Amino acid sequence: EEKYDRGLAKSRTGFGARLNRFLANFRHVDEDFFDDLEDMLIESDVGYDMAMKLSDSLREEVKLENAKSKQDVSNVIIEKMVDIYEAAGKDEHPDLQMAKEGPTVIMFVGVNGAGKTTTIGKMAARFKRQGKRVLLAAADTFRAGATDQLEVWAQRDGVDIVTGPENGDPAAVVFDAVQKAKKDDYDVLFVDTAGRLQNKVNLMNELAKMKRILTREIPDAPHEVLLVLDATTGQNALNQAKLFKQSTDVTGIVLTKLDGTARGGIVLAIRNELHLPVKYVGLGEKVDDLEKFNASDFVYGLFK
Ligand code: GDP
Repeated sequence: EEKYDRGLAKSRTGFGARLNRFLANFRHVDEDFFDDLEDMLIESDVGYDMAMKLSDSLREEVKLENAKSKQDVSNVIIEKMVDIYEAAGKDEHPDLQMAKEGPTVIMFVGVNGAGKTTTIGKMAARFKRQGKRVLLAAADTFRAGATDQLEVWAQRDGVDIVTGPENGDPAAVVFDAVQKAKKDDYDVLFVDTAGRLQNKVNLMNELAKMKRILTREIPDAPHEVLLVLDATTGQNALNQAKLFKQSTDVTGIVLTKLDGTARGGIVLAIRNELHLPVKYVGLGEKVDDLEKFNASDFVYGLFK
């Protein structure tokens, strides 16, 4: 909660304050009101579809005379955001899927700079704190420094890591890591992958190959494929997500850098347009700045 508090400061002064400002001018609900509301929501990155859904359900509540005052209108908007978010994901697993026995394998995908390495470092620390044995696989062999950066996290977290030569075959790193995870009884294996979108076809083939290797070694692996998205890139993040979703079986989203955007509405857009659950959010650069996502904490946090 405290974490959300700090991490959402910008979104609160952006998105939250925008809504509060908007409602400060509230006189009565008419067509202009709905037009302005839709514009305001779209500017906050909730996405067109979500803006329309919110405005439609508010219309409905107004018709039923459940929303008359400024406070009612504000409450309806907030409640509907949570409802729409949660309804879209009622068949999903908000928590990470863990292996029934043997190592749980989590692949991290996403474009360079999104925050994959940092997220792995943060998550490894979390699992370690819970007493789990964590192994990292540095399978981004192409980006200069990616392996070094993950090694720094491994050291800091006190967890083990499997690396390969620069520009080497990333699938070989994955193979070595999954072998080691099985042989040495690790609880979780985190796989860092490349994110060079300049060569989409190669990248997607490479990710597919890694997945095949994992599944061959552990039949229900990978247990999660988490797509890491940078919240500050707004609609761009959404487009990247569509691309990854088409070619990889993404199971959930980690939305990073929420602390760096004033438009936290992107969370709702991702949920609504991609039909993927946001499982974790990044709220800063430090090891503790990763929180499990909870829709109502998040939305209420915005409007505090
Ligand atoms: P990768 O290329 O996807 O592995 O991205 P990195 O993990 O190297 O992250 C890129 C930059 O974003 C680094 O400077 C990180 O410190 C920073 N970063 C990652 N997650 C967050 C976050 O949640 N908040 C903030 N403010 N910065 C972050």
